Amino acid sequence: MDLTVRGAVKRFGAVTALAGVDLDVAEGELLTILGPSGSGKTTLLKVVAGFEVPDEGSVQLGSVDVTLAPPRARDVGMVFQNYALFPHLTVAQNVAFPLEMRRVPKAERQSRVAEALALVELSGYEARLPRQLSGGQQQRVALARSIVFNPRLLLLDEPFGALDRKLREAMQLEVRRLQRRLKLTTLFITHDQEEALILSDRIAVMNAGRLEQVGTPSEVYARPATRFVADFVGESNLFDGIAGPDATAEVPGLGRLFLAAQAGTPGARVTLLLRPEALRIGGAADPLANRAAGQVVETVFLGLSVKLRIQPEGGPELLVRLPLRPSEPPPALEGEIVTVGFAPEDVHVIRQA
Ligand code: ATP
Repeated sequence: MDLTVRGAVKRFGAVTALAGVDLDVAEGELLTILGPSGSGKTTLLKVVAGFEVPDEGSVQLGSVDVTLAPPRARDVGMVFQNYALFPHLTVAQNVAFPLEMRRVPKAERQSRVAEALALVELSGYEARLPRQLSGGQQQRVALARSIVFNPRLLLLDEPFGALDRKLREAMQLEVRRLQRRLKLTTLFITHDQEEALILSDRIAVMNAGRLEQVGTPSEVYARPATRFVADFVGESNLFDGIAGPDATAEVPGLGRLFLAAQAGTPGARVTLLLRPEALRIGGAADPLANRAAGQVVETVFLGLSVKLRIQPEGGPELLVRLPLRPSEPPPALEGEIVTVGFAPEDVHVIRQA
C-alpha cells in the first residue's frame, strides 16, 4: 500500500471530525472520499497532508510512518478549491515554485516546468499572470504546480468546485487521464457523487467522521453497505421491511415482495433498495414478479430519460427512471394509473444493524 491510515481520530473540542478512520490507497490508485458537508473529508486530507496531527492513529506513506512529520517532509502535491496561485508570479514561476523549494538546478527546473505545462495543455502561457487566466486555466496551473516535482501522493480537495458544469466535466476527464498516465497515487475529495463515480478507481463514502463503505464505483452504487450510502450515492427507492420466508420481504403498503435470495432470518428488519432505472411500467412490467398499480403524480423530462413519481395506493411513492429515444412520446401522463413492476434480482437488501 502506498498510503495507509490506521485508526485516525481527530477532535475539535466537542466535535469529533474523525471517529476512527482506516484507509488503504494502492500505488497509482485514485481513491475518492465522498461525503456530505461536515462529514470530515477535509480533516482526513489535512491529517494525510500533515496540516493536522491526529489525536489517535497513524499515517504511513509507503513503509514510513509520517504521522508527526510536517507537510514539507511528506512529498505530497495538493490542489484546493481556491486555487491559491501566487498572484504576482507568472504561470512559469508558479509552477517552478516547488522545484525552487527543493533546490532543483535551474536548467532542470525549466524543462520540468515546460513538461508539466504541456501535460495540462498550457504550453505558451508561461509569461501570463494568474489574473490573465480563466478559472479553469488557473486550476490547471495549480495542477501543474502540484505534479511538477513528482510527488508520491496527490491530494485534491474539491478542486473543481468553483468551475461551471461543462468546464468541471472537462477537468474531471483531464485529471483522470493525467493521473493514469503518471500513475499518481491520488486522494480526491468531493461531495459530488457524480464526480466520484466518474473519476474513481474506488470510492470511500464518509459519514460523521467514519468511512461507511470503501469499494469500486459499481460496488458502491449497486451494493451499498448501508442505508446512508444507498441514499447518498445515486437516486434510490428505499423501503423498510421485514424479512419473510422463501426469499420474500413484507413492506408496508407494497405487500409481499419477491427477492433473489433470502433477506435474513424471517422476522428480521431489513432495508430494501431499488434503483429508479430498475423499474418498468405498463406492458413492460407485466412479466415481472413484483407489481403494483399506482398513479403517476409527476413526470420530468431529462433529455435521455424521463423521471416519474408513481404513487401506489396506501404505499410508498416510487421513483422510476425510463430511457427515452429522441422524438419518442412520454411513456405515461400525469394522472394516469399504471402498473409498475420490478424483478427480484433488482432488489438489493441492506441488513439493519
Ligand atoms: P465540507 O464538505 O463542508 O468541506 P468536510 O467533510 O470537509 O466538509 P471537515 O471540514 O473535515 O468536513 O469538518 C468536519 C467537522 O469538524 C465539522 O463539524 C467541522 O465544523 C469541524 N471542524 C473542522 N475543522 C475544525 C477546526 N479547526 N476547529 C473546530 N472544528 C472544526
